[in-house]
Amino acid sequence: MEFNDTYQMLIGGELVAGSATLDVLNPATEEVIARVPDATEADLDAAVAAARRAFPGWAATPIEERKAKLNALGDAIFGNIEGFARLLTREQGKPGTEAQGEIMGAGYWLKAFTALDLPETVNEDSDERISITRHVPLGVVGAIAPWNFPMILAMFKVAPALLAGNTMVLKPSPFTPLCTLKFAELASEILPAGVLNVVTGGDSLGPWMTSHAGFDKISFTGSTQTGRRVMASAAPTLKRVTLELGGNDAAIVLPDVDVEKIAEQLFWAAFSNNGQICIATKRMYIHKDVYEPLRDAIVAYAKTVKVGDGSEQGTQIGPINNKPQYERVLDLIQDAKDKGYKFLMGGEKADVPGYFIPITILDNPPEDSRIVQEEQFGPVLPLIRFDDYDDVIARANATDYGLGGSVWSKDEEKAFELAQRIQSGTVWVNETQHLSPLAAFGGMKQSGVGVEGGLEGLLEYTNAQTLVRRKKPAFAQ
Ligand code: NAD
Repeated sequence: MEFNDTYQMLIGGELVAGSATLDVLNPATEEVIARVPDATEADLDAAVAAARRAFPGWAATPIEERKAKLNALGDAIFGNIEGFARLLTREQGKPGTEAQGEIMGAGYWLKAFTALDLPETVNEDSDERISITRHVPLGVVGAIAPWNFPMILAMFKVAPALLAGNTMVLKPSPFTPLCTLKFAELASEILPAGVLNVVTGGDSLGPWMTSHAGFDKISFTGSTQTGRRVMASAAPTLKRVTLELGGNDAAIVLPDVDVEKIAEQLFWAAFSNNGQICIATKRMYIHKDVYEPLRDAIVAYAKTVKVGDGSEQGTQIGPINNKPQYERVLDLIQDAKDKGYKFLMGGEKADVPGYFIPITILDNPPEDSRIVQEEQFGPVLPLIRFDDYDDVIARANATDYGLGGSVWSKDEEKAFELAQRIQSGTVWVNETQHLSPLAAFGGMKQSGVGVEGGLEGLLEYTNAQTLVRRKKPAFAQ
């Protein structure tokens, strides 16, 4: 595919320019790099109507054919890794290698999901009757994606929704619509018209979608604050919702770790994608017996990491993706400064164009500080000392979030025992952020409603339907 400067929506199989445009910036330079369609309500209505028209045919398509289309979409992404990755770096800011990783992950997700099938359960098969529960698609799904992983998180929705036989209208974040629109170009050549529609627009488009009576389900990934709005807006028409929301993941590091060997891994648990990961480590609790040496080792490693424009060779951490998020992270840093917390490094605004914030690490700020209690979603990490396991588990759980968490120790059994006490949707031992298309992923508490991934995630795009057939009814004898 040609990665030219033309960006169009996909509505009913047609690529559509729209009547107005939105600017998209490169966060490393703050320069406008593209203009994308700014959808009107009429554009959204057209996309929903196209998805509705396509639904009966797609739902009736044998699942093996739907799988073949998902495989073809995945192959199309794999055939364009370089182009997508370069574009992703320009719109999102992440370094080239991370961008490539995300694009390959997006292709892989579409293909790997095809290992799943929709189960049928025989509830009863007796002389009187046979009762079967099967899973039928919901109808039209509205999918709303965030800006931190625009491609892979969109595919988290496309794969299960289309596999289950639904049609979709997908909306990327206005900060990162470019790769999704190029993916739409590929999809227009692979999928039947209307099965996948892609619309882009400003702040009104999401609320138009969540309140639109033409959707049967909203699948949303974004902040907890917006998630609450989505759920409220979906309520009047009782749309199904899957909400993948924010997190404040704790990492708990036990005293038996090898400080020198683990420092790098712990650093990246927090700072990959510049900390802009829902399941990034956002609070790091370190046992008092290793607190000082591990703190020093993490800081020493952090000082070797290159922050810069993601398109430059050797860059390991790029800019924050957008201005509102940049200002939010700076506000958290300023709060920590105002309160007099100790900074081990960072804390200053980088005096260059672009939304750059130097790697910032804090030394044992109070448990009730904003930087410990809030989701920073940026390159700022509080290191916190602990000495009692019950106490650290209680602190890890004392939050409305419950997305992820991790425990690190040479004693895998001890770590596993502690991991099971963390109230989060996914907990890792001696690694973080490993996700699989075949495993349920979602948040407990206010980190989400429902899951994506695995059979559980697939079934969220279906209605369970029980069919009961009486055998040899009395009236027929
Ligand atoms: P956001 O909530 O600001 O926006 C997410 C999407 O929702 C965007 O497409 C946006 O345009 C749209 N939107 C905004 N207001 C809306 C409204 N009122 N109604 C409908 N749609 C609306 O989130 P963000 O800043 O793009 O992403 C960062 C957040 O997402 C973080 O909190 C992060 O933890 C979370 N996140 C969660 C997961 C997960 O899987 N749990 C994954 C990635 C990011």
